[in-house]
Amino acid sequence: MSYAYDDQNIFARILRGEIPNDTVLETEHTLAFNDIQPQAPVHVLVIPKGAYVCFDHFCAEASDAELTDFARAAAEVCRIKGVCPDGSGEGYRTISNAGPDGVQEVPHYHLHILGGRHMGPMVK
Ligand code: 5GP
Repeated sequence: MSYAYDDQNIFARILRGEIPNDTVLETEHTLAFNDIQPQAPVHVLVIPKGAYVCFDHFCAEASDAELTDFARAAAEVCRIKGVCPDGSGEGYRTISNAGPDGVQEVPHYHLHILGGRHMGPMVK
């Protein structure tokens, strides 16, 4: 099986500059911006600039440079937002929804970074 990427999805349109976004960080291969409907005081979406549908697609097909850039950018967002639990912040949660069972709304891979409040236990 393989993934078909819909280049009309909302994040593809953000990457092309067709829709504005509230950018937190931009790097060579990655864009991070505030979620339009935040579920917590900190709610940032981190997306690769490449055309990947979900986590396993990204990990299987992205280059090492893209993977490293994405991971470092996501960590930098946590630092920028002051949520690293290293004494400077109180922690955060990362979530990536994939496909129908994961209730993924936008079919462009993205990592949610949520923080700024106690997130509560994971729903079983
Ligand atoms: P998913 O359910 O796919 O994991 O999450 C998609 C996220 O994208 C949701 O949290 C939703 O609020 C956010 N979102 C949808 N459309 C836009 C948009 O146009 N701009 C921004 N910044 N976020 C969006």
